[in-house]
Amino acid sequence: MKIELLDKGFVEFCGSFGTDLDICRAARVRPQAEWRSGGLEDAGQNDTKLLRHMLLNHHTTPFENVILRFQVKAPIFVFRQWHRHRTWTYDEISARYEELADEFYIPKLEQIGVQSTTNRQGRQILEDEELRMILPQRESEIAEYTERCELAFKSYRRLLNSGWPRELARGVLPLSTYSRMMGTVDLHNLMSFWRLRSDSHAQYEIKVYSDSMQVLVEPVVPVTMALMRSLNSMSS
Ligand SMILES: Cc1cc2nc3c(=O)[nH]c(=O)nc-3n(C[C@H](O)[C@H](O)[C@H](O)COP(=O)(O)OP(=O)(O)OC[C@H]3O[C@@H](n4cnc5c(N)ncnc54)[C@H](O)[C@@H]3O)c2cc1C
Repeated sequence: MKIELLDKGFVEFCGSFGTDLDICRAARVRPQAEWRSGGLEDAGQNDTKLLRHMLLNHHTTPFENVILRFQVKAPIFVFRQWHRHRTWTYDEISARYEELADEFYIPKLEQIGVQSTTNRQGRQILEDEELRMILPQRESEIAEYTERCELAFKSYRRLLNSGWPRELARGVLPLSTYSRMMGTVDLHNLMSFWRLRSDSHAQYEIKVYSDSMQVLVEPVVPVTMALMRSLNSMSS
């Protein structure tokens, strides 16, 4: 269960603890309880309704009973944003311990756009016609970007070959360099991550990882995911 992302990255589902039923068991403080079936339209009490009630009313801790683990390969600038989410547990490869592979992110032409004039942090994706007008310019800029990153990796290898320690030689590498980590998080905090990083204002390069984790988590907690989606679509 691995989804390839960007030009060389991926997110891989590495395991989980807990299910929709475990969330309900925690909320009801009945560790052996069976799933109470029934949908939202039922007159009686059932666990789909309980999950919806908790999502709507921010009764959050039962959702912390589901733990999820991922392996992620992404550009370092994506990890810089990701690691601000302190409720995850991270283990990242060490560039002090091992040499980094010559792998860096090259954005697709149509994903570059221009600096947004309405959002200081974001970009504005160009319409087809606008892109066509600056296509030759953008192609030569991508070539320049790629050449600069390749040169940085050449310097990195040169410094390593002449005896520089790995922990200092890496200083010449760009933020687009790919890194790899394991990340573990509970469902409550993953939903908070999704709220911020699957939002339309999130940077595209982290949003694709955030969106893909929703696909990977779907089979683990299908009822919660369906409810989360329907509540999100109601509020947007
Ligand atoms: C669009 C966008 C723009 C951003 N721009 C910037 C920027 O310009 N500069 C910048 O530095 N960051 C920026 N950030 C990062 C942002 O400020 C948060 O650090 C990041 O989104 C993690 O959110 P969080 O703290 O809710 O997540 P987590 O760290 O996972 O925390 C989840 C929740 O746990 C609680 N919590 C966790 N740790 C503590 C604690 N120590 N004390 C109290 N409560 C805690 C809080 O309720 C928190 O909301 C940006 C984020 C987004 C989405």
